[in-house]
Amino acid sequence: MMAEKVHDIIVIGGGLVGISAALALQGRGREVLVLDRPDETLKASQMNAGAFAFCNVEPLATPGIMRKAPGWLLDPLGPLSVPPSYAFNILPWMLRFWRASLPDRYRQAVLAQSAMMTHCEAALKRQVGATSGAAFLRQEGQLQLYEGAGEYRASLEEWNLRKELGIAFELLESAEAIAALQPGLDPRFTHAGFTPHWTNSVDPKLWLAHLTEVFLQRGGAIERLAVAALAPGEGAVELRTSSGDYHASQIVVSAGAWSHHLSRSIGEPFPLETERGYNTTLPEGAFDLKTHLTFSGHGFVVSKINEGIRVGGAVELGGLNLPPNYKRAETLLNKAKQFLPALKTDGGTQWMGYRPTLPDSLPVIDRSPSERRVVYAFGHGHLGLTQSAGTGEIVAALVHDETPPIDLGAFSASRF
Ligand SMILES: Cc1cc2nc3c(=O)[nH]c(=O)nc-3n(C[C@H](O)[C@H](O)[C@H](O)COP(=O)(O)OP(=O)(O)OC[C@H]3O[C@@H](n4cnc5c(N)ncnc54)[C@H](O)[C@@H]3O)c2cc1C
Repeated sequence: MMAEKVHDIIVIGGGLVGISAALALQGRGREVLVLDRPDETLKASQMNAGAFAFCNVEPLATPGIMRKAPGWLLDPLGPLSVPPSYAFNILPWMLRFWRASLPDRYRQAVLAQSAMMTHCEAALKRQVGATSGAAFLRQEGQLQLYEGAGEYRASLEEWNLRKELGIAFELLESAEAIAALQPGLDPRFTHAGFTPHWTNSVDPKLWLAHLTEVFLQRGGAIERLAVAALAPGEGAVELRTSSGDYHASQIVVSAGAWSHHLSRSIGEPFPLETERGYNTTLPEGAFDLKTHLTFSGHGFVVSKINEGIRVGGAVELGGLNLPPNYKRAETLLNKAKQFLPALKTDGGTQWMGYRPTLPDSLPVIDRSPSERRVVYAFGHGHLGLTQSAGTGEIVAALVHDETPPIDLGAFSASRF
């Protein structure tokens, strides 16, 4: 019988988190094989809003959200929704989400996320340098917009938190001051916060393609197939795949919203859910966008993608199997048209993506508690692009038994 090949490291998942981990490991001289399912449209990394949102340190589970959530949930096309057929499935996750929103847990999550963001911002710079990727990024800042003084005042707690954490911003208190940065907004937006260092990728799909290409050029390998299960053996970890068994000395599970299916196969369940998000990408000439726009009260953003515009957001807690409800994308586009009257809404392409989300809005980045040869890196929610380079570096540190660059307590695989 021929001896099976034992790979040095297999990374499961070829999204931004998996490829960033693969690149970081390759940078340490390791031989890396990425196994990634062939369906590109399933990758959250492909078509997201493209923002490196390093200043977004607040988890979704804020102390105030449980007051707002019932109102949002009553509107089936509002910023947060649960399809009726999924309502029962999501209950245990919702209970954990509520616990995560309690003030002390929230505060811990903010501090952990803030340390993570500082690390991730520096790691992105290193990744851009190491892959000659500067042309795939642009820094045009971000305007977070409020309709009237009431909404603005309610947001000041968030801005005070950013000040405390040393994040640079400017508060704008008139429609004229806002128009100086972004002409063409409806005058109902009377207040805003501007974060000048906010960076966007020119197109997340091109950014992922660039990183993937660098990985391949440096000798990395990718096979497009699905892993069904992990099976720890004595010499190596076995992976059951659609093309037979694979073996590796180390495994990284970075399979986005599907990661818990793999962890379950070694007896480790995680309360991983998906926040389904929607967007529409409009062609060149749709709007003269000067900066990334965030409509906080409506749960969506408008970003520049190449020379076009992407309007997207929403949170639909609807699992991995229900068909998309593209009325959500239409609703966001209609709102964007009200807020940016000159927006040309023709010729758009709609998309739905699966944000991988844990109830406390923090990813799991840790060794498996039961199988040291498995490292988990998933659950980045709204921030997977933002945190991909930083996560890659942490994964490389874990695989090499080094002290990680930040305290990983809040990101532990044993916290649920
Ligand atoms: C509408 C929307 C807007 C967003 N905007 C932003 C933003 O502006 N900034 C930001 O930072 N983040 C944003 N995000 C979140 C971000 O896109 C995700 O957090 C991130 O892409 C997750 O990356 P990932 O590599 O973990 O997962 P994915 O990109 O989903 O990749 C996982 C990969 O694993 C593969 N896979 C799964 N199971 C298996 C298996 N069993 N075998 C083999 N392969 C498998 C999948 O097919 C996929 O290719 C947004 C998300 C959405 C939906």
